[in-house]
Amino acid sequence: MTASLNSKMFNIDKVRADFPILHQEVNGSPLVYLDSAATTQKPQAVIDAITQYYSGYNSNVHRGAHSLADKATYVFENSRKQVAAFINSPSVNQVLWTRGTTESINLVAQSWGQTNIGEGDEILVSALEHHANIVPWQILAEQKGAKVIPIPLDSAGDIDQGAFESLLSERVKLLAISHVSNALGSVNPVADMIAKAKAYGAVTLVDGAQAVAHLPVDVQQLGCDFYVFSGHKLFGPTGVGVLWGQEALLESMPPYQSGGEMIDTVSFDGTTFNGLPFKFEAGTPHIEGVVGLGAGIEYLNALDRDAVKRHEDDLMAYTIEQSEACDGLVRIGQAKHQAGAFSFLLNGAHPSDIGMLLDQQGIAVRTGHHCAQPLMNTLAIPGTVRASFSLYNNRDDIDRLFAGLAKAKQFLL
Ligand code: PLP
Repeated sequence: MTASLNSKMFNIDKVRADFPILHQEVNGSPLVYLDSAATTQKPQAVIDAITQYYSGYNSNVHRGAHSLADKATYVFENSRKQVAAFINSPSVNQVLWTRGTTESINLVAQSWGQTNIGEGDEILVSALEHHANIVPWQILAEQKGAKVIPIPLDSAGDIDQGAFESLLSERVKLLAISHVSNALGSVNPVADMIAKAKAYGAVTLVDGAQAVAHLPVDVQQLGCDFYVFSGHKLFGPTGVGVLWGQEALLESMPPYQSGGEMIDTVSFDGTTFNGLPFKFEAGTPHIEGVVGLGAGIEYLNALDRDAVKRHEDDLMAYTIEQSEACDGLVRIGQAKHQAGAFSFLLNGAHPSDIGMLLDQQGIAVRTGHHCAQPLMNTLAIPGTVRASFSLYNNRDDIDRLFAGLAKAKQFLL
């Protein structure tokens, strides 16, 4: 148990007890869940918040004339305030609800991008991006005659900063990079890269999908123009996410989708739009998702975040140490600073065979290209086995992983 001066606590046994799904057998063995980069598990508090919404105050938000709708609206908008505080947004109106990281990036590409990207412009992404932070820019570039340029990596899997600097010029209109790589766990020096890109007048977007559950995020300190993430990787439900943006940029952008909620007045002579954040929130939103995401943030806020970070750093260090003693294991990606995800190959076996052999022992990992095919092409491998952690994992889980790999090896020989 670790106590801190701020009186918040982090007790791993208590935290594990908060996640009901962890306490079950899978294929005859106690579950070891090492796939939190794909989606985090949900604490009872999140499950309860969603149940309470449906059993106590299910209503549509914003336009109701009754008490249940008032309560739903209050909780819904309170979640927005929680997100704003969580990422240190100057204003709550800069927090927009989307379906997730993917939709947030598509929104920026098709709203900001359509009006601000032109022929010959350049969009810089890194070579380790998730497809969600590549394909929307490729589509935009195709529509506008612009170019998407990947920033290469160094041999450890860090973004090559020298190469990045040499790619910067006035032609670069956008830098779009992940805060933490989902495939390798590399923590990228985003604040520094943002400052350098801004010196050339570029707009900057940070894909925080893999960062929000592991690192403190302060959008003002980062200095980015857009920051995006998904609720389901932050102990909340699927189907809800966040687009945070600089107010002046969001004000200047045309709506992404249209219909109810996002309007001010509608007539057959024309329509005027609602202000922020509603201008970008057409239709009935994912109310249960927003309620659950607020509860997920509240859950994390109640823990000692420094102790959580120390715990997760210890898990990563312990995994690296164990991997060095595991014959035949090749680490994929050795970035200076890694968070959440550990990728590897074993005895030259196909990653999916390893994943299957681990699953038979109740150990859940992710295998394949992790939606980062350009990265796998750069590394000249078909994919990796990825073990990814969250605050509810412990050293026993890592011991089970390596015991599982030792057993798997017997079948690979
Ligand atoms: N970006 C990164 C770095 C991710 O890890 C993911 C999901 O794994 C995404 C984007 C896409 O997130 P979602 O599928 O929740 O939209």
